[in-house]
Amino acid sequence: MKRRHFLGLAGLASLAGIGGYFVFGGDRFSARYTEEEAEALVAQKAREAAQSGSGPYGAQIYDGYRGLAALPWYELNTQGRLVLVDESVPAAIDVHAHLGMNMLFAPDLDLSAESERVEYMLDCDATDPGCPLDLDVYINANFSEAALRRLQLMSLAQILHGSGAAATHTIPNLLAEMDDCRVEKAQILPIAWGLPFGDALTENWMKAIHSAEAEPRLLRGGSVVPGDPDAPEKLRALVAQGIRMIKLHPTMQRFYPDDPVMSPIYETCGELNLPILFHGGRAGIEPEFSHKYALMRHYEGAIRDFPKVQFVMGHAGARDVDQAIPLAQKYANLWLGVHGQGVTKLDQLVREVGSDKLLYGTDWPFYHLAATQAKVLMVTEGKTEVRYAILRGNAERLFGFA
Ligand SMILES: [Zn+2]
Repeated sequence: MKRRHFLGLAGLASLAGIGGYFVFGGDRFSARYTEEEAEALVAQKAREAAQSGSGPYGAQIYDGYRGLAALPWYELNTQGRLVLVDESVPAAIDVHAHLGMNMLFAPDLDLSAESERVEYMLDCDATDPGCPLDLDVYINANFSEAALRRLQLMSLAQILHGSGAAATHTIPNLLAEMDDCRVEKAQILPIAWGLPFGDALTENWMKAIHSAEAEPRLLRGGSVVPGDPDAPEKLRALVAQGIRMIKLHPTMQRFYPDDPVMSPIYETCGELNLPILFHGGRAGIEPEFSHKYALMRHYEGAIRDFPKVQFVMGHAGARDVDQAIPLAQKYANLWLGVHGQGVTKLDQLVREVGSDKLLYGTDWPFYHLAATQAKVLMVTEGKTEVRYAILRGNAERLFGFA
């Protein structure tokens, strides 16, 4: 009972924390998070910003998502929608997507509604011309100060009165964009927050996908609360209901991936052959108190000790990508989801980690499906097999489709 309550508060704090409204006390630095590690993040951001445009692909700045039509693979159709027109690009499998979120007090969303356009978390097409979209930096570097404020308010609305933007993060809207970009399947990943109520994304999304008859294009996913003693039982029930993957989010769910409290979850996933997508690394826009959970060195124990579990490091470790590379080289059961990384870094990942361990993911509706796809197309130009592996083949192996 006590633990439940604690997790509930932690979950609530982490939700509110997205907006930076809560600052948790305690010492800023410890063995889990050193001053050097905090400084390394600041340095990474500065270095990346300074180097943008100086890599092998030169400057890669577009006028919003629509601006990607300047690339050879895309066009704007008569409705002004961005569409993939190169017939040779393989139909993709997106391993990392979400639907509209409503938690706690926020009323239910109609996930079957259609709307004229999607209001992305980075809503780069809201203006004409769109916001400058740099594909040579970690993607969240494209949030302006104003866009970050909007993101914070949106996150808060998702737990209070409901978010207007989230109401556009629906199944028909996602499917329409998948059609536009030739994305055949998308793995939908909820998060279990550990809230005292209004915490049913897994169940709500499963139901919505089922009633929209959106399977098998939308693969159902789940999540459990770290440390929940009932998690193994819940995982078995979810797999029986058809989920294909779970998501665990160290910064939002506030846990260390190598905490022994997680072992029953990993063990069960190994037994069930259920892959785990971790939110990987520090994104750099979350509250600093949560950074300590997401250092790459805290993931290693889980990956090492549970070799039967297929782990996907979401965002390829985000801003900690340089520490994710050696892990992916070392462990056969670690894949990297490439969402977010800029083209120069993505090119490095292909060379240093190998194309057989990289997975296309989009983090929709944070961003348009084409934002990551365009980068994959760029770095795989002239490399048919590499392109197929990243966009589709590896996901087929991971999910056992092939
Ligand atoms: Zn995500």
